Amino acid sequence: MQKYDLTKCPCGSGKSYRECCEELHSGKRQAENPAELLRGRYTAYALLNGDYVKNSWHPDFCPAVPGRFMVSDYKKIKLTRLEILREEITGDTGVVEYIARLRAGTRFDYIHEVANYVRTGGKWYYTDGNQLH
Ligand SMILES: [Zn+2]
Repeated sequence: MQKYDLTKCPCGSGKSYRECCEELHSGKRQAENPAELLRGRYTAYALLNGDYVKNSWHPDFCPAVPGRFMVSDYKKIKLTRLEILREEITGDTGVVEYIARLRAGTRFDYIHEVANYVRTGGKWYYTDGNQLH
């Protein structure tokens, strides 16, 4: 597992992990909008929290693999920066475009995705996305 400084939440909010994404991961509160859910999911990938990745993914879209396997590819990846480019909410659907910068060993790379979200039963879920890079 990669080391993260949890006095600054990996999602880049500027708050500590405890005051930020941990509240989502522990279930203390729910993400209030798609961008916040994205932050929580990004941090969950960083911290290899497969349960949160799975539980925040709409069950109709989520791959049928056990929670812990969803993050296994991230063991050797350090997520270094999240940039949210835009968020659009229309009723119970949302779109967030973001860039997640990462380092795999000595290689720098990034994920650029337009991600789709839906709200059901008052909770936001990730559904699917279009990866541009
Ligand atoms: Zn956070």
